[in-house]
Amino acid sequence: MKYNRCGKSGLLLPAISLGLWHNFGAGDDAENKRAMCRRAFDLGIRHFDLANNYGPPPGSAEMSFGEIMRGDFVAHRDELIISSKAGYHMWDGPYGEWGSRKYLLASLDQSLKRLGLAYVDIFYSHRFDPNTPLEETMGALDHAVRSGKALYIGISNYPAKAIKQAAKILKEMGTPCLIHQPRFNMLQREPELEGGFDAALAVGMGTIVFSPLAQGLLTDRYLKGIPPDSRATENGSLKSEAITPKMVERSKRLNALAEKRGQSLAQMSIAWNLQHKAVTSCLIGASRPSQIEDCVKALDHASFSNAELKAIEKELAA
Ligand code: NDP
Repeated sequence: MKYNRCGKSGLLLPAISLGLWHNFGAGDDAENKRAMCRRAFDLGIRHFDLANNYGPPPGSAEMSFGEIMRGDFVAHRDELIISSKAGYHMWDGPYGEWGSRKYLLASLDQSLKRLGLAYVDIFYSHRFDPNTPLEETMGALDHAVRSGKALYIGISNYPAKAIKQAAKILKEMGTPCLIHQPRFNMLQREPELEGGFDAALAVGMGTIVFSPLAQGLLTDRYLKGIPPDSRATENGSLKSEAITPKMVERSKRLNALAEKRGQSLAQMSIAWNLQHKAVTSCLIGASRPSQIEDCVKALDHASFSNAELKAIEKELAA
């Protein structure tokens, strides 16, 4: 594993991190969840990313990871970076979502209980809240650190302007913002196009990109139709309608470019994300240990020639 410095902080993050958004809910196979985390750890993936609402049901991914912590990782706490977040709907009533101090700090306490941890390494505001003063949301994050419940803080899904404002407020409070977590992949490039990457670089924050494989669209998963055990069959965050003939054709052409590089499409996608200078870590998801193994091999060939980058852009524009 390669470890990259996170912005201007002292923290190194693995170039590939594992997220527990999918496949770690209450109904998912316990042995598979455990096997994925253990394989990731052995491959040097020391960062596991969670949020209060990951499941289903919400909260159950944190409980799953808590169980794995107790059973397998308890002796390794100091080798792990564990993150959680609050921002999306978690419980009913006016205090169960968005960015108030009330919600964020109550949610962090609940996350720690589910995880069975005294602290998380990174606690995030999961989304920008246009109706709460940014000072209040950032004040809650600062408090999380000062109370010893988080070592670092981050923001996720923030627009470029709010990234800069958040960094300024937190710097004045004395708790620098470690990291921004936006979505980024070859098909969804908002942080590159709308200034999110530049804003994070300008203020010395790291960036960890989520859904780097576009939930599986940028892998070989759908080249021959929709496999019965794939995310698209769940019709949740990835709709089966997204697997259009045009999308499949483009994936086939990208796959051919990856083959020329001696890589799987997932590996080329990860390498492509990591060559952006703002990107500290690629936050992948997986449904089985072999996918994690495949993704980590991206690091064996992570550089691109100009001709390869141009060929990728040409296929993306087609
Ligand atoms: P990806 O884009 O990496 O998609 C993961 C899916 O791609 C897997 O479930 C699997 O699909 C497929 N896949 C992974 N590796 C391979 C491989 N080597 N070959 C073939 N297929 C592969 O990421 P996610 O969308 O899962 O997001 C990753 C993490 O990002 C989340 O767990 C979460 O931590 C974070 N996140 C944060 C958000 C935020 O708002 N901050 C929002 C969304 C995610 P299949 O299941 O079909 O096998």
